[in-house]
Amino acid sequence: MYIGRFAPSPTGPLHFGSLLAAVASFLDARAHKGEWFLRIENIDPPREVESRIHKIPQTLEQFGLCWDGEISYQSDNHERYQETLAKLSTLGLTYACDCSRKALLLRSGANRYDNFCRSKALCDAPNCATRFLANIPYVPWTDRIQGTINASNTEPDDFILQRKDGLWSYQLAVVCDDYAQKVTHVVRGYDLLNETDKHIQLYTALGWSIPSYAHIPIATSATGQKLSKQNFATPLDTQNANLQLCEALAFLGHTVPVMLRKSSVQHILQWAIEHWNIVHVPALPSRIWPNS
Ligand SMILES: [Zn+2]
Repeated sequence: MYIGRFAPSPTGPLHFGSLLAAVASFLDARAHKGEWFLRIENIDPPREVESRIHKIPQTLEQFGLCWDGEISYQSDNHERYQETLAKLSTLGLTYACDCSRKALLLRSGANRYDNFCRSKALCDAPNCATRFLANIPYVPWTDRIQGTINASNTEPDDFILQRKDGLWSYQLAVVCDDYAQKVTHVVRGYDLLNETDKHIQLYTALGWSIPSYAHIPIATSATGQKLSKQNFATPLDTQNANLQLCEALAFLGHTVPVMLRKSSVQHILQWAIEHWNIVHVPALPSRIWPNS
């Protein structure tokens, strides 16, 4: 059984970097005769653009990337997150934290949380975030592309589950949704590799089975800057979907035969499903994409 997914956030138009994650997760699912779901990760209203929520499915369709079942929206899943938070709290694995970003910076000078409030036993107050008590050591795990990932030289830190303003963290939401949708295989960008240890900790704490992970290289400009919505990466050009699809496939180690490059996206995808092999995807954190 194989259930995969693509889970973009509607913070800007889809760009070449998003296409890579969509294509890789789609092909890996289809090559395994699996299902592929589309989930819109809209848990962060201040950063989201309403019109993008409708634009994402349209763009994917223009690239021939058709998903199974209904589109799911994280904004519909608050109850699910609340229940999971309650379960973690019952297990004694949460605590309230009232540290400001500034105080944290002054103390530890890094983005890493220093578990400062662990022993303070603060009562949940409106101005507190809820953190996960990460008392499970990191264990090495195997990524299908990047090989053995061993974070043993890093101490787990107590990451946020629910922010001070009530918004859910990416960590909590993504684990709850992948579990609820019975996702067996996660294929996504290398920029999320370091988050995976946290996800594995949550799965372990909740007694849920851990999906298999594959992290594809991310596209960067010649100067090493990641293509992202925050960096105003060029939106996908749906007029030339077939050519962009071929570029994405080449980036992922699958070169489409010249005679096929000008055919329809459906034809190209059909070829790609037949030829997809994840071992051909380069085991690199990033690759320069010449056209960025
Ligand atoms: Zn704190």
